[in-house]
Amino acid sequence: MTIGTNWAGNLHYAAAGIAHPRSREELHDVLSSPGGLRPLGSRHSFNTIADTTGTLVDLSAMPAVIEQAAPDAVRVSGGMRYGELGAELHRRGLALANLASLPHISVAGAVSTGTHGSGDRIGSLAAAVRAVTIAGPDGERAFRRGDADFAGAIVSLGALGVMVELELDVEPTYEVAQTVHEGPRWDDVLAEFDRVTALGTSVSVFSRWVDRERADQLWVKNRVGGSALDQALLDRLGATPATVQRHPILGAPAEACTPQLGESGPWHERLPHFRLDFTPSAGEELQSEYLVPRRDAVRALEAIRELADRIAPLLLVNEVRTVAADDLWLSPSYGEGAVALHFTWRRDQPAVEALLPEIEAALPDTARPHWGKLSRLDPGEIRRRFPRWSDFAALAARMDPAARFRNAYLERLGL
Ligand SMILES: Cc1cc2nc3c(=O)[nH]c(=O)nc-3n(C[C@H](O)[C@H](O)[C@H](O)COP(=O)(O)OP(=O)(O)OC[C@H]3O[C@@H](n4cnc5c(N)ncnc54)[C@H](O)[C@@H]3O)c2cc1C
Repeated sequence: MTIGTNWAGNLHYAAAGIAHPRSREELHDVLSSPGGLRPLGSRHSFNTIADTTGTLVDLSAMPAVIEQAAPDAVRVSGGMRYGELGAELHRRGLALANLASLPHISVAGAVSTGTHGSGDRIGSLAAAVRAVTIAGPDGERAFRRGDADFAGAIVSLGALGVMVELELDVEPTYEVAQTVHEGPRWDDVLAEFDRVTALGTSVSVFSRWVDRERADQLWVKNRVGGSALDQALLDRLGATPATVQRHPILGAPAEACTPQLGESGPWHERLPHFRLDFTPSAGEELQSEYLVPRRDAVRALEAIRELADRIAPLLLVNEVRTVAADDLWLSPSYGEGAVALHFTWRRDQPAVEALLPEIEAALPDTARPHWGKLSRLDPGEIRRRFPRWSDFAALAARMDPAARFRNAYLERLGL
């Protein structure tokens, strides 16, 4: 059986097999058969986090569940993709607080790696999880917000078992309008950083770093009915409003992007940059990302600016976003609000991997890598930057005593 590759095509899964259970019973049969196991989502990670030499467990054939669990919560199946979930929630008059740049990813796969969108006051997708049911060879275990170990069980790298169901916080549906502002001056963006990231509900700064003086674009997604755009600040940055639809990679065709130019629409069709029915981002690419505490953000951006000439030849685009703090042990925004420095690279993995140590050495030593993207940081250093790592390792040992869900990625981290 061919298992194929991840979305980016830079990884051929080494798994001996892949199971597509169609029911809870079939899932439990798969989990009780011998050998290594690894839950697989929609394959959008760029490293070996989802791989195994045993059996991959893909939930995409399981029944899709979206049930109201409380007036402000829905229960969803782990293999559900955010794109389908968002459309159905909106139809029912409901919404999530945030989405990532693409709607193609699965709920369980996204929360397992701490996937996030942008917003000073919005947490990662994992922060919206209020309960999870995790299946393993010995049956199922549920964790609810407030329970001991709940905070370790959400961003959990696939190490605890298979998330079959999750409950997510929801709120009444809302509309968002997005606008793009071109060419803000970096000196002014850095001088006014806190005001820039507060320009809307969800703000991104995109740059190809071909110009150290000006970023390419500032994307502002604003809830309709919220505060008006701070035009005086945009003027001070020297940013001019885009008059046509834009792609994050300035100059790339923009038909894959959600509507801009201030045209309001439902949250799930504006918060992601990319539309579900198109290939997101560039397609042929790799990604790395580092989240630094907000207090270190300007220093981190200055370090990247210094490296612009080294970075630009390999870079498709750099995106700067913000993520509110949470208390999830392995969340890159654990304990403190974070600023995420994301790099979409050309698909030249040896060259990217040769450059990453330079970037990692230049960033503040508080920078935490995204679990699903490429990084060269030393495992000991990664453990140090996630202060609850040893609590997580103890939880993984309790949940998976026979190490059935352990893979090479987790072993390298010392699990
Ligand atoms: C074009 C593109 C854009 C992206 N944009 C963003 C972005 O805006 N923000 C961001 O933070 N990241 C972004 N990412 C990264 C992506 O969101 C993460 O890598 C995410 O984990 C992918 O989810 P997935 O469903 O593909 O999971 P996979 O990559 O298949 O798996 C990821 C991890 O989740 C585990 N897992 C999967 N399913 C389950 C389950 N049912 N139970 C338990 N564990 C499970 C796997 O074992 C693995 O450890 C982007 C990636 C791409 C390719």
